[in-house]
Amino acid sequence: MDKRVALITGAGRGIGAKIALALAADNTDIAVVDYGEESAAKETLDALAAAGVTARYYRCDVSDFSATKEVVDQILKDFGRIDILVNNAGITADKLIMRMDEADWDRVLSINLKGCFNMIKHVTPFMMRKRFGRIVSVSSVVGLMGNAGQANYAASKAGIVGLTKSVAKEFGSRNITANAVAPGFIRTAMTDALTEEQKKEMYKLIPLGSLGETDDVANAVRFLVSDAARYITGVVLKVDGGMYI
Ligand code: NAD
Repeated sequence: MDKRVALITGAGRGIGAKIALALAADNTDIAVVDYGEESAAKETLDALAAAGVTARYYRCDVSDFSATKEVVDQILKDFGRIDILVNNAGITADKLIMRMDEADWDRVLSINLKGCFNMIKHVTPFMMRKRFGRIVSVSSVVGLMGNAGQANYAASKAGIVGLTKSVAKEFGSRNITANAVAPGFIRTAMTDALTEEQKKEMYKLIPLGSLGETDDVANAVRFLVSDAARYITGVVLKVDGGMYI
């Protein structure tokens, strides 16, 4: 495959870091966009360098419209192109609505949903000129099924589905595809903190009977940005072991 360049948000660690490594295996240079200090992403950047691709770190809050414009401009200057956008950055602030305040709602929606809009808004002018683009946004099964205590998170992830389908319709004629992945329960620091009891309850909800791995999500994204998926747009690919059928 020709050398490509991917901008991946929240790629400093977790699922985003695995997505970066999966795309690197397909000869893709990586712009890691994350919120924290560059040192927090050192392990990821070292692994990408070891994989033989060019990787650079850009510190940016995806919810900040003008900062995302600046970062996209800088990446285009440094790499000369952006072929792939993966909107992966996301947070939770779980509370029942009774206890959820306005700031909890605004923060989750700004990062998880507006962050995707910001990036799509700024990368699509370049992709349109090139008549090529692959956009994948990380939703969640919670956005499809709802979850008590996660109204803000579920709304943001459901919003990503509507955004993705609209982007697929607006940009399809320019050979830009837009898809979403919807992970279920994935083994991360967050799920490691659950008790054995809680995990057993969870497994009862999952036909495949186990948690997913970050690689499972990364492989789905790798497929959706590959040439093998050139005729696929506007889909939500669940990576959930059958949890929500
Ligand atoms: P994580 O917390 O390990 O990683 C999220 C990354 O996003 C971090 O590197 C963080 O610094 C970055 N980030 C947070 N706010 C940001 C901001 N404002 N601007 C830029 N970067 C920011 O989480 P994860 O488990 O790897 O999750 C990645 C994505 O997958 C998220 O969108 C999450 O909602 C989604 N997801 C995760 C699971 C799961 O089980 N872990 C399930 C479904 C969906």
